[in-house]
Amino acid sequence: MDITERFLNYVKFDTQSSEESQTVPSTSKQLLFAEYLKKELEREGLDDVELDEKGYLYATLKGNIKEEVPTIGFISHYDTSPDCSGADIKPQIVQNYNGTDILLSEGIISSPKKFPELLQHVGEDLIVTDGHTLLGADDKAGIAEIVQAMVYLQEHKEIKHGKIRVAFNPDEEIGMGAHHFDVEKFGCEWAYTMDGGDVGELEFENFNAASAKITIKGVSVHPGYAKGKMINANALAAEFAKMLPEDETPETTEGYQGFYHLLGIQSNIELAKLNYIIRDHDREKFEDRKHFIMQCAEKMNEKYGEGTVEAVVSDQYYNMKEKIDPQMHVIDLVLRAMQDTGVAPKVSPIRGGTDGAQLSFKGLPCPNIFAGGVNFHGPYEFVSIQSMEKAMNVIVKICELTAGYND
Ligand SMILES: [Zn+2]
Repeated sequence: MDITERFLNYVKFDTQSSEESQTVPSTSKQLLFAEYLKKELEREGLDDVELDEKGYLYATLKGNIKEEVPTIGFISHYDTSPDCSGADIKPQIVQNYNGTDILLSEGIISSPKKFPELLQHVGEDLIVTDGHTLLGADDKAGIAEIVQAMVYLQEHKEIKHGKIRVAFNPDEEIGMGAHHFDVEKFGCEWAYTMDGGDVGELEFENFNAASAKITIKGVSVHPGYAKGKMINANALAAEFAKMLPEDETPETTEGYQGFYHLLGIQSNIELAKLNYIIRDHDREKFEDRKHFIMQCAEKMNEKYGEGTVEAVVSDQYYNMKEKIDPQMHVIDLVLRAMQDTGVAPKVSPIRGGTDGAQLSFKGLPCPNIFAGGVNFHGPYEFVSIQSMEKAMNVIVKICELTAGYND
């Protein structure tokens, strides 16, 4: 089976996850795919193939050398985004793409004018949708690449490698992919999620993240008799919001710049609640931002009386760079693997979080490598077959280089 056939089989399964659900996995249809994939891994000769009741699928490719080398892993998620239908996907292959508009179906066109990324793939074979669903390259392309790499390594015994672990998980798209991941059972020194976008992407920096919940207590008095007595929580909420820097919001920042983001305000005269998220790549600046929020609350209390404003700041996740920095060989290996396979690396900070960040803080350093898909979470999603092959080559090369790696 080639990588394309494998991928096309995977996207026949509707594996959409759901934010509303309380179960694990969030949708039972995900397990149907996990069962299918389990059988495929067994058929392809992997060892220790194990699917737990939460939908986490683990397997091993045994090493073929005697020396002790680090055990490494590759991970991708099999759920698709709740933002767009993943049912009844009808993939189409555009052979030798010529750089013009692609007619997905009657009246639905994927155009390089709107999606200039298409032009990076002229001459390649693109897998596109029929314009009514997402494609699911996020992240079934990652799965196809990992499985194909494991098959390739078994067929090419001349490539020496240590023990390789693979894992496939549900519910990444609802932020729960790492929650039930058994890092101990996985037993790797480090791993990679194959969940990035276009060819060359390599990510190992993400935001530090916290939430801040501000509660403001007002005093309601008949407006006709309110002078000197009323404290209007509505007005105080507006005052608080104004204290935060105007040019440090999501809409005014990019790259490594952090922000305060006001998600919502609920307010009346007696009670106001402001809901913020705080983001920064830099840990120190992140701590400063949290501190600043607390200071704003204090200032308001000095002005309006103790207990008027209460701020509760809670950390959500941290920048994995902190965990990767002391182990830069984890990144160097990828850069070398990309170089050896003719892929130009594109390293950029993530303005969000990843499963890999959570795994890194659970003790498994885990950067993110491209899977090749573009325009995730919508009907214009596509993946080039050549991109998937490049990702597969990178995986094979990382396995090979790790065997030659000495601490
Ligand atoms: Zn993904």
